[in-house]
Amino acid sequence: MIAVLFGPPGSGKGTQAAFITRDFDLPHVSTGDMLRAEAATGSPLGLEVAPLMAAGKLVPDELIVRVIAERLRRGDVRKGAVLDGFPRTVAQAQALDTMLKREARDVGLILSLDVPVDDLVERLLGRAREQGRSDDTADVIRERMVEYEKKTAPVLDHYRRCGARVAAIDGVGSVEDVRRRVHEEVAGALGAARRPEPTRRVADGS
Ligand code: AMP
Repeated sequence: MIAVLFGPPGSGKGTQAAFITRDFDLPHVSTGDMLRAEAATGSPLGLEVAPLMAAGKLVPDELIVRVIAERLRRGDVRKGAVLDGFPRTVAQAQALDTMLKREARDVGLILSLDVPVDDLVERLLGRAREQGRSDDTADVIRERMVEYEKKTAPVLDHYRRCGARVAAIDGVGSVEDVRRRVHEEVAGALGAARRPEPTRRVADGS
């Protein structure tokens, strides 16, 4: 199953994705981590994205779609994956839908982490102090929130319109509380995905 962890910066996507990976053995695919790794090695891709990331801007759709397409071709995601930080625009979601459709797959679950904006800013500033992430200064955080509202929030409507399984998760509380809520939803979706199709009765066509 392909699950998408969705939510604003600071909502706990990375933390909860790591739990899903541990609990359900689904590879964690974080586009933010992949881009940070590229930036750290100074590859051409890394050099291109580093200034955008440092400014809290999204990187261009075609670029990130290329990165994720390559990642989804690797064998470990055959059994599924948890996507963290992708898709972040409706164009990315459409590109993902097309990619998956070619292999008769789709996004099986979207987990949307809901956290009030004041809590988000506090969490991000705390993370900046602890981890020294250069995209977590007050100005950059504001820019990331603007990008989220403008470009990323509509992705949820895209999936709702498509009839995908969207679970809104209360992202406030302890990490363990949120983990339990997420766990329940993933287990439910996996149960539904693995349940065999009901057998059709030929005689009455039901
Ligand atoms: P994250 O760790 O997911 O918050 O991502 C950190 C930064 O990487 C973002 O602020 C963007 O600059 C860039 N990034 C990660 N994923 C994407 C994406 N799907 N589309 C555009 N930019 C992205």
